[in-house]
Formats: sequence, structure tokens, C-alpha cells
Amino acid sequence: MMNLLYKSTRNAERTVTASQAVLKGLAEDGGLFVPEYIPKLDVSMDELKDMSYQETAYAVMKQFLTDYTEEELKSCIEKAYDSKFDTEVIAPLVKVGDTYHLELFHGATIAFKDMALSILPHLLTTAAKKNGVTNEIVILTATSGDTGKAALAGFADVPGTKIIVFYPKGGVSRVQELQMVTQKGENTSVVAIHGNFDNAQSGVKALFEDRELERELNEKGYQFSSANSINIGRLVPQVVYYVYAYAKLLQNEEIADGEKINVTVPTGNFGNILAAYYAKQMGVPIAKLICASNENKVLFDFFQTGVYDKNREFILTSSPSMDILISSNLERLIYTIAGQDAQKDAELMRQLNTEGRYEITPQMREKLSDFVGGYATEEETKEEIRTTYERTGYVMDTHTAVAAYVCAKYRKDTGDKTKCLVASTASPYKFARSVMTAIDEKYAAEDEMELIDELHKVSGTEIPRAIEEIRNAQIRHTRECDAEAMKDEVKEILGV
Ligand SMILES: *Cc1c(COP(=O)(O)O)cnc(C)c1O
Repeated sequence: MMNLLYKSTRNAERTVTASQAVLKGLAEDGGLFVPEYIPKLDVSMDELKDMSYQETAYAVMKQFLTDYTEEELKSCIEKAYDSKFDTEVIAPLVKVGDTYHLELFHGATIAFKDMALSILPHLLTTAAKKNGVTNEIVILTATSGDTGKAALAGFADVPGTKIIVFYPKGGVSRVQELQMVTQKGENTSVVAIHGNFDNAQSGVKALFEDRELERELNEKGYQFSSANSINIGRLVPQVVYYVYAYAKLLQNEEIADGEKINVTVPTGNFGNILAAYYAKQMGVPIAKLICASNENKVLFDFFQTGVYDKNREFILTSSPSMDILISSNLERLIYTIAGQDAQKDAELMRQLNTEGRYEITPQMREKLSDFVGGYATEEETKEEIRTTYERTGYVMDTHTAVAAYVCAKYRKDTGDKTKCLVASTASPYKFARSVMTAIDEKYAAEDEMELIDELHKVSGTEIPRAIEEIRNAQIRHTRECDAEAMKDEVKEILGV
């Protein structure tokens, strides 16, 4: 088979292999790596129906990561999807009322980023070996909460790597913060930024683009890589669970052969929903991709008007992992709908950088017909959690509730009866305060840790290991800095 090669969204000239794209994270020109085309599945749904999560992962990932050998890829998959997950099925499907929740929160940090971040370290260290890299790899990550902990957990004590995570001080939940600052591992560092997620993310991007810093690091035997959702090694593992979910719906006879489903995804950086779009292009019968936002509804407005405009107030919501004004992965979609025109993409991204906005052409807008945008206010999100609990006894987290609300509203507004899958991205235990006060205001005054016990009683679900762990853990990370001082912080940590 010919190798599937990857290009930058901002440069049509150079191609790299999959393992090189995984290793680099971000292209040198600031663009994102994209495959030259989206490969088709080469196994039938009939075969996929009976496959385990790990087998499905291999069937999907081998199509994208063609320069990894079968042995390498299977070894990465086995190391990733093991007893770190609290269920053998890895990503269970749960029917809640008339929708299907794909629970992506059964990994080490009880949020969906574990799905990709438990495999990325293995894909990355394999890529380093394959490409003769002898430098130590430094993972640099900006997080709005969940990526940080999932990346720390994935990379902790992985030989040949170091990881530095930046998060917005005050912009993540108490549980999220505790999860990060208690992280063990000699190679882990955590820094709180005085600013919001976009400041942290822009800061990390600037460090990646800093050629002088790159030289200095190289002299000391270090090189950067990214664990953010811009890394293709994050995106590809996320395609897997959409293929898996469809096959399981088929196996459970919830849908007929070839029946199309809609997929609703609570969206921030646009990685998860882009993976669903790739799954569709691989051949999974998906009709609409419903992009659900919270009150930071940049994407809703974009799908509505064709204008992406981040010049607006940044709102802190109860779904902090979606509090994002620059959805980095959208660039991959922009590139695709521009007809894989790197020059056009680069021009729009330049406008985003300088003016904070851009407008796509009418021809590009036509290619967005697979997508529907929606959003939920804080009030609507709470309402969704409460009414779903009252109707079904199922307790969902705030991010998932945004999607569930948008999914239900879409159905009501359009009359579209297509069955719908909701990506359920976090355990309610991770956002216990918001979830419990949505169910009943009387919980507002209680301590977050006590609310975990209340949630356990109310939902009848087990308290996850990840929560038990932080209850008594010691705080190990106390670094803080201004967004402008991130470079100095990195140099200090690495002793450069
Ligand atoms: C990261 C995250 C999201 C958003 O996913 P993107 O891929 O960034 O769009 C939604 N929900 C939770 C719980 C998350 O951690």
C-alpha cells in the first residue's frame, strides 16, 4: 500500500509521513497537518460489528497512520486501552430517553481526552524511534482543564519525554485544578497562567513558532512536540469511537443496515466533531454533524453567517472545557472547504491573527451543509441536566448537557427524526458542583467534595477512581506566571 502523506494547511509544497506529523505536532509554518485525503474503511460494518474497541482502533488507525507497522500500532493500542479504563468496552453506549450517549469518560481522568491522550505518548515515542530522534521530547500544552490532566497522566514517567502544562488560573473547575497540581511523575510540570485559555494557547503557539528557542533547545538535547488537539495523533484515535459506536448500534439492532444517524458533539477546539466528520468521510453513515456550543458561541455564529469573529466577550461558563474563542481545529475544516487551498487558508488565518475575524466565501459555505450549529445558555444547560435526571434518572455532566440540549432543540425545530448520538464527554463527578446545583439549588452551599458523595447517592453510580485519588493527594505543583512570561518559565523548567 502507498503511504498516506500529510501536508500543512498553510503550505502545499512539503509532505511528511504520519509519524513525522505526529512527532512535529504543528507544521513549521504554523499550519496544522492534514492527510492528503481521508482514507476509506477497508472492513465492512458487518465485520466491525463484532470487533472489540482495540480491534476497531486498529482497523481505523492503520488507514491513517500508514508508516507505522502492524506490530507498532497494535502495541500502541494495547498499551493505551487497558485497565486504565474502568470498563472493558472502553466507550459504552447508553440509551437515555430517545438519544444514545456515547460515554467517552471511562479513562484515567474521567473525560473524553483520555480516549486520545492514552495512546498519543506511545504513538509519539514510536514515531521518535522510527525517525531516529535522539532529543528528549518536551510536550508543551495549553489546557482549558481536561487536556492538561489527561496529557499529564498519559506522559507521566514515559521515558524520553517531559511535559509542561499551562492552564488559566481560575478558569478550570476545582476538581480539574486539583487533578493537575497533584500530578505525580518526575517529568511533569504544571503552570497557572494569569489570563484565559486563549492567552495560554496563543502563548504555546508562539513558543512553537520561536525558531531561536528551537535552536537553544536543540543544543541542550530537547525538542518540542504538542499534545494539544492540533496533533494528528490526537485526532486519528478520536475517529475510532464514532466507527465503534455506529457498529455497536448496528449490533444492538438499534439501527438498520446503512441507516444514517446524526451526531451531536459538545465543542470547544473543534477536535472531537472534526473526528466525527472524518468518520463520515471514511464511510460511516452519518447525516448531520451538530456542533453544540455554550455561551461562547463563536462556532454557532460561524455556521449561521460564514463569519468567524472572536472579537467578543469571553464568558466563563459551567462547561469550562468549551470556553474557547479560537477553535484551532476548525482550520482543518477551513482548509478542506477551501478545496485544500493552502494559500487561501493561510490568508484567512492571517486575518484571524491580525483582525480577530475572517469571512469565508459563498462557495466555501456551500460545503458546510453537513454541519448544523447550536448553543445552550447556562440556564438551558442546567434545565437539561435537571429534566433528564427527573425523566430518566440519568445524570450527565455540563458539557454533555450542552450537546443534549442542542440535539433536542434541533429535533424540535426541524422535525428531523434521524436517530441521534450524543458524545458524552465528561463524568458528572468531574463537575459535581454545577451538576448537583442544576438538579437542586439546595446543594449550592455545600463543599464540592461532599457533593461527590451526594452525586453518588442521587445517580447510583460508582465514584470513579480518579476522584478518590485526588481526595487525599498532596499538591506538587505551585508555579504561576503572566501570559507574557511563558517563555522564561519554560526555559527555567528545562534549565536552558
Ligand atoms: C475538550 C472537551 C470538550 C471539547 O472538545 P473539542 O475537541 O475541543 O471540541 C468538550 N467536553 C469536554 C468535557 C472536554 O474536555
